[in-house]
Amino acid sequence: MLERGEVANSWRRERWDSLRLLTPNWLSRLPGHRYEGPDPDGYMTSGEVVDFIERFAAVTQAPVRSNTNVISVRPVDDGYHVSTSQGDFRARAVVLASGAYNLATVPGFSTAVPVSVEQRTPLDYRGPAHLPEGGVLVVGASATGVQLAAELQRSGRLVTLAVGEHVRLPRVYRKRDVLWWMHESGMWDQRYDEVDDLTRARRLPSPQLVGTPERDTLDLSALTALGVELVGRWAAVRDGSALFSGGLRNVCSLADLKMNRLLATFDEWARATGREAEVGPPEEFPPTAIPATARLRLDLRGGGIASIVWATGYRPDYGWLDVPVVDEKGRLRHEGGVLETPGLYALGLPLLRRRRSTFLNGIEDDARAVIDHLARDLAARRIA
Ligand SMILES: Cc1cc2nc3c(=O)[nH]c(=O)nc-3n(C[C@H](O)[C@H](O)[C@H](O)COP(=O)(O)OP(=O)(O)OC[C@H]3O[C@@H](n4cnc5c(N)ncnc54)[C@H](O)[C@@H]3O)c2cc1C
Repeated sequence: MLERGEVANSWRRERWDSLRLLTPNWLSRLPGHRYEGPDPDGYMTSGEVVDFIERFAAVTQAPVRSNTNVISVRPVDDGYHVSTSQGDFRARAVVLASGAYNLATVPGFSTAVPVSVEQRTPLDYRGPAHLPEGGVLVVGASATGVQLAAELQRSGRLVTLAVGEHVRLPRVYRKRDVLWWMHESGMWDQRYDEVDDLTRARRLPSPQLVGTPERDTLDLSALTALGVELVGRWAAVRDGSALFSGGLRNVCSLADLKMNRLLATFDEWARATGREAEVGPPEEFPPTAIPATARLRLDLRGGGIASIVWATGYRPDYGWLDVPVVDEKGRLRHEGGVLETPGLYALGLPLLRRRRSTFLNGIEDDARAVIDHLARDLAARRIA
């Protein structure tokens, strides 16, 4: 196992200070290794996630070579040549487990933002104190965007949040964590080959969830109540101003509709499986509270906005992979983690084999399936 940093590197180096998992402790597990502390319904801090993964590495005696940066992987006869900062390796098979969130996705028009405005991504944002004084424009209303908008607004900044397509969820539904419903109903186990539009499902934004001791819901209505100003999707920069789409109402209605549909599916599952007694009565949530008129333009030169945080998504970095298995959008072409090039595999990508694939909890089944394939392939090659 080659790791450019230390065990749990992404949780040490690439998360903001206040981040907690959005998955509850009882659900954040690795093979044979689960949370055993006093708060199974709580949510781990980044530091606790580091400890959790470190303990797993120690218990399993994972053969990790840390501080070993993989610089290139290229095919050679019967395998791959792997160049690293600590020397070269030959391998018959390679599993790409380098993460789905290595780089921040930022729209091209960010280069037209006036230089007086500081720009950050979640990968280099640590907390409100590290941003210059003044208003903040947070772009993107998925898990990262809503969490950062709330934190910045609470710190006393004036925050504007640009909202595109998003997934609205209550933290708790019928007295159970919404991820309890996803897990117990089997929704999280839906397989990649059962999903209608896999490309779209793999690009689905993360749900508007935050893990707090109070188990608060952090949807757009909650942000409006905090004083965050909502605007539509940021579409362009013109003459030093940000131009927003007029579709805020539409994206919010769509998110409300999809949330209600999902909750109705949970209700139906509870009824059909006789689990009604375990949960509270069905609940209804008011439609997202949106401003009567949302602004369509925001001057970025007037000094009102001092910084922008691009919470517009993440993508993997395969700059070091010298094998033609990446599409024009930078995504790996694979079938449930098996690449078309023999001996090459992937783990830890969105909906790799199941909806739970990118979560800590998703690795066990995916790894078993992928490693099964790998072992069979190596055995067949040995026989050949
Ligand atoms: C903001 C955020 C919040 C999240 N919240 C949750 C949550 O609440 N619950 C949950 O279950 N999951 C959450 N996740 C998903 C999270 O990514 C997974 O839980 C987990 O970290 C995935 O592990 P991984 O090993 O697949 O990828 P990563 O954690 O990204 O690890 C990949 C490793 O590969 C190393 N690496 C990359 N390139 C190279 C190279 N060229 N050479 C050598 N090493 C390399 C990196 O240093 C890194 O250590 C969150 C992710 C993000 C970004």
